[in-house]
Amino acid sequence: MESLEELENSKSFISRAIKEVRFVAFDQVNRASHLLTSFSESDRGERLVLFIESEATLAKRAWHIQRIFFLISSARHFAHELADEGFPVLYLKAKSFQEAFTVLQKNLPTARFIAMAPASFSLRKLLDSANFEIIENDLFLTTPSEFRNWASGKKSLLMENFYRWQRKRLEILMDGEKPLGGAWNFDQENRLPPPKNYHYPPYLTHQRDEIDLAVIQELRANLPLLWGDDPDESWATTRAGALRQMEYFFEHHFAAFGPYEDAMPRAEESWQVHHSLLSPYLNNGLLHPQEVVAAAIERFERGDIPIASCEGFIRQVIGWREYVYGIYWLFGEKYRESNHLEASRKLLPLYRSPESTAMACVKDVVTSTQARAWVHHIPRLMILSNLALLSGIRPIEFLDWMSEVFIDAYDWVMVPNVIGMGVHADGGAMMTKPYAAGGSYISRMSNFCKGCIFDPKKRSGDDACPFTTLYWDFLDRHREEFSRNNRISQQVRGLDRLSDLDQLRDRAKEVLTRLSAGTL
Ligand SMILES: Cc1cc2nc3c(=O)[nH]c(=O)nc-3n(C[C@H](O)[C@H](O)[C@H](O)COP(=O)(O)OP(=O)(O)OC[C@H]3O[C@@H](n4cnc5c(N)ncnc54)[C@H](O)[C@@H]3O)c2cc1C
Ligand code: SF4
Repeated sequence: MESLEELENSKSFISRAIKEVRFVAFDQVNRASHLLTSFSESDRGERLVLFIESEATLAKRAWHIQRIFFLISSARHFAHELADEGFPVLYLKAKSFQEAFTVLQKNLPTARFIAMAPASFSLRKLLDSANFEIIENDLFLTTPSEFRNWASGKKSLLMENFYRWQRKRLEILMDGEKPLGGAWNFDQENRLPPPKNYHYPPYLTHQRDEIDLAVIQELRANLPLLWGDDPDESWATTRAGALRQMEYFFEHHFAAFGPYEDAMPRAEESWQVHHSLLSPYLNNGLLHPQEVVAAAIERFERGDIPIASCEGFIRQVIGWREYVYGIYWLFGEKYRESNHLEASRKLLPLYRSPESTAMACVKDVVTSTQARAWVHHIPRLMILSNLALLSGIRPIEFLDWMSEVFIDAYDWVMVPNVIGMGVHADGGAMMTKPYAAGGSYISRMSNFCKGCIFDPKKRSGDDACPFTTLYWDFLDRHREEFSRNNRISQQVRGLDRLSDLDQLRDRAKEVLTRLSAGTL
């Protein structure tokens, strides 16, 4: 690993015979990608594989330490593995990407600079401005142009329709033209609350090695803004570890994935439930979605996995994941700035200081996020985003927080999930209705409410559940808008049946003031 200054001074590594530099972004650490497979042994003397750690990117935000640790340690492990295989690797620490590109291009004026299409608008701009040749990104199952073709001329971009198109196109879980098992989804079987007196399998752990420990030490020494607990053994940082995690999921969790997909037990009972924990590896390239899907089908075909679980998992990978990737590119760079509901509140203190709130659900979910930079999709949607939606937090502030604290966050995946699904900031361009819910949903799908000082059934009064109060207040504040939306207008009409609407409005004002002050 070299700094840019060392490189400038020594000029030892970069010989002027280098004809090609191939840049590997930290979310493209995939040995089978064509960026690396098209690199023949005879070319190695003339080509260079380039990794850059940008100080500016690391220092500017209050990242969760485990998010940054995972990215850097995975990239360093990958760079070492390539070097061991005989690739000429330059792993550079620089003040910024721009600075690194400028210095390298000055020293290698005739070399071609090549990169795989990046998964964010900002990196794309940077690479374009540095005159990189861009080759297609083969780490997804659907290219942005395939998605654009699918979306073209459609009035509605329902995920369900995209998913069915994917199943047919990719021939996954199909019986000729029909869906295997006779249905496209088994949601009715898959929405169960947390089971009682249940034994979850133990978590798979991943031992830390020297590279990991060095990264943790460096991060703690150099980045004062970091948030969250130090890395434990929850996350792997190598391809071998990612493969172990995948096998473990298929062996110990896959069969029960479906029924408990939406359940929220307390973190001390299980923080994983039966989720795969594969998103970090799918998103940084250590795993390819194709191999995860193939392994899932292979496991299913052995016969003891219910179709509801297999279909539920396949839907996430070939449906939701590819759908949000397509939406990100289709809706464009400005999509992240959407604020259809004109939400203007600053981020609530409880998102950084869970100890400051008495709301048992929020405290548990934010503390769990602090512990390992991950919670599954329902706490992300129905606790964290739901609270941001109901309390009217400025979408971009909430997006920034989510992007800083989750281990699997990248622009392409966080922007649609937060702006389109989480806080309805796009006015329904992606999802037809807001995912707003009061305490009764949370009480049904979790074990949080039993230990809470608030009552999920109450909407006004001192012990009213803040979610329940804010849910009704949210519908009331946006009554006009939502009464035009037939997917939610029935709930809006429910406002007319509330006898305590005035008290509820007063309580909502108090709840919002105290949430903003960090005293609720
Ligand atoms: C508000 C919000 C923000 C989210 N932000 C992210 C994010 O930054 N990065 C991220 O990877 N996922 C995000 N998700 C989706 C989902 O929460 C995570 O992918 C999932 O929790 C990862 O855990 P897992 O691997 O155990 O998933 P599993 O439940 O085991 O699902 C399998 C895989 O499906 C994919 N997947 C499922 N749902 C989605 C989705 N909505 N979008 C994209 N991929 C999906 C993931 O790759 C995941 O690994 C977000 C969801 C919401 C509601
Ligand atoms: S009562 Fe309300 S605040 Fe308390 S845990 Fe339940 S949903 Fe959360």
